[in-house]
Amino acid sequence: MVDVLIAGGAVMGASVAFWLSRLDPTLDIEVIEPDPSYATSSTALAASGIRMQFSDRVNVEISRFGVDFIRDFARHIGPAGEVADLGFKENGYLFLTTSDTGAQVMENLAAMQRELGASTQVLDRAALRARFPWMALDDITAGSFGSRDEGFFDNMGLLNGFRNAARAAGVRWVRDRVTALERDGARITAAVLETGGRRTAQVFVNCTGPRAAILMRTVGLDIPVEPRKRTVFIVDAPMARHPDAPLVIDPSGIYFRPEYNQWLTATVPATDGPCAPDDFDPDLQLFEDEIWPALYHRSPGFEQARMRRWWVGHYAFNTLDQNAILGRNPQVPNLYHANGFSGHGLQQAPAVGRGIAEQIVHGDWVTLDLSALGMQRVLDGQPMTEAAIV
Ligand SMILES: Cc1cc2nc3c(=O)[nH]c(=O)nc-3n(C[C@H](O)[C@H](O)[C@H](O)COP(=O)(O)OP(=O)(O)OC[C@H]3O[C@@H](n4cnc5c(N)ncnc54)[C@H](O)[C@@H]3O)c2cc1C
Repeated sequence: MVDVLIAGGAVMGASVAFWLSRLDPTLDIEVIEPDPSYATSSTALAASGIRMQFSDRVNVEISRFGVDFIRDFARHIGPAGEVADLGFKENGYLFLTTSDTGAQVMENLAAMQRELGASTQVLDRAALRARFPWMALDDITAGSFGSRDEGFFDNMGLLNGFRNAARAAGVRWVRDRVTALERDGARITAAVLETGGRRTAQVFVNCTGPRAAILMRTVGLDIPVEPRKRTVFIVDAPMARHPDAPLVIDPSGIYFRPEYNQWLTATVPATDGPCAPDDFDPDLQLFEDEIWPALYHRSPGFEQARMRRWWVGHYAFNTLDQNAILGRNPQVPNLYHANGFSGHGLQQAPAVGRGIAEQIVHGDWVTLDLSALGMQRVLDGQPMTEAAIV
């Protein structure tokens, strides 16, 4: 019997394993992960951004810890992590609004975010024009901009650093898939593996990303998480090369950010719903129908934009409130969740891994109280509303 068995070894599983091995080096920990390439994991397919601009304080605090950790990753993770730097590009995030009401909401949120150490400023149209002269802003009233502690970084570096450091501390990565859990009343007793084996453990952690609900159903539990497809495009626009631009969240619903001399861009499809966990067919029409017109509207430099490549990733979409579902399951207390991150889990991995490890080792949240994101709200049907969802 192992002490802790983690199903899923991408960024969340690796972060939980890393922090557990730090907090209690005597623990025997196994991570079950079927795909060492991580080719279809959300972690590998993310836009890799981190921001302070959330409407809920807990989400701001989670990213506050995340950005310090990411900025100074090599020191935090130690030499065993074998990652020198996550290449954090601190270009900022820019949320744009077309209404005065939207501008007022931005002012209120910026004040809260600054209280928590963020640099968010609300810029009016003139200030936006001065700062981003390449943008067409006639329809914009204001933009909320964080010039510090926001940007994008190396997603796979974050995963690899956690995993290398955890393995160096004795955590075992097993190439297999957990096909089912076994339950005896209020305890999970074992994990059944695809290759025929079976593992018993004191504690189980579900880090299976968009497939999290499938695993829960094997023990009669329900979590409101489903895979949702997101097609990401890499675009070349020779007349609009702005490698220092922020990640822009446009009122049209698209977002775009520089990817070296090109752009990375995506949107939520108009008809958004669950997809099969192995459906990675792209929605290429989105580029012509929605993304390109919106890019061109925001900057004439995008007139000559050409789609160069694309990929499809899955959000682990939490249908209750698009927020993470974290920690001990009140119905089955030796089961822990790191699920439902929707579009903002990568940046949350450092704080979430630390929190779940603290809950397992010390019995409760210690450094940061993450109870607002716990499973109890799901059982009570009480969404934790987050207005800044991308
Ligand atoms: C297009 C896109 C853009 C995004 N942009 C951002 C962003 O800018 N910023 C941000 O913070 N977040 C972003 N995200 C979200 C972020 O990628 C995820 O929240 C985060 O990577 C979740 O990590 P995870 O380890 O929980 O899940 P995943 O990375 O999906 O990993 C789950 C792992 O579990 C394994 N697994 C599945 N089933 C089983 C099983 N039964 N047994 C064992 N293992 C199993 C899988 O092989 C996989 O490796 C984005 C996501 C997408 C799709």
